[in-house]
Amino acid sequence: MYKYELHCHTSEGSRCASTTASGMIDFYKKCGYQGVVITDHFFNGNCTVPKDLPWKERVELYCKGYENAKKRGDEIGVDVFFGWEFGGDFVTLGLSPEWLAENEDLDKLTLYEYFEKIHSAGGYLIHAHPFRESPYTKALRIFPRHVDAMETINAGNTDFENSIADYLAEQYKVTKAAGSDKHSDAIKNIAAVELDFRAETLDELIDAMKNNKHTVKEYDLSENDGKIELTEHIPIKEV
Ligand SMILES: [Zn+2]
Ligand SMILES: [Zn+2]
Repeated sequence: MYKYELHCHTSEGSRCASTTASGMIDFYKKCGYQGVVITDHFFNGNCTVPKDLPWKERVELYCKGYENAKKRGDEIGVDVFFGWEFGGDFVTLGLSPEWLAENEDLDKLTLYEYFEKIHSAGGYLIHAHPFRESPYTKALRIFPRHVDAMETINAGNTDFENSIADYLAEQYKVTKAAGSDKHSDAIKNIAAVELDFRAETLDELIDAMKNNKHTVKEYDLSENDGKIELTEHIPIKEV
């Protein structure tokens, strides 16, 4: 199976990330992944890009994490794709840096306007960590009818939060996605979308998800002699 990471941050683009894009790609290579989508926090999230610059310049700075990751990926054989995380909760795939550059003030849209805009442009929306409870979450906001997929596995969520997302995805018949929401290359648990073929493009990966030709997995990691070993995660049932 070919493993893909759909939710990954870099220190170039995300304030809360501590590993560089290149370091992240090295990490995923060690974990045996075929591909990684770089999804740094967009301007309305915990982003490194200064606010007082022209839009196009901001987009250029924003894309540094992806570009550095792509460069490293080309060197060591990891397929790197572009995406972003909107407002902390919506992983957005299928649109290019050029599209971002042309859509000034995207970050000012309300969520419903944003969903509409992304879909009319042909983008794909994944509801990130839908049931995460944290100090910055004032309320659970779930949009099962407005997203294309939902993270039923987010490696930063508890098993309980993931199990509720999985139940909801089943009930609403929403495509299941997985993402690690990685901010560092620490040896922790990790999520993967798995395919039985190598996706040449991100569109191929998205198509596979649309047709439910993928599986979602979570692994525990351990390090042995500098090698990273993956063991399938067994969820703990607790509230
Ligand atoms: Zn973050
Ligand atoms: Zn994230």
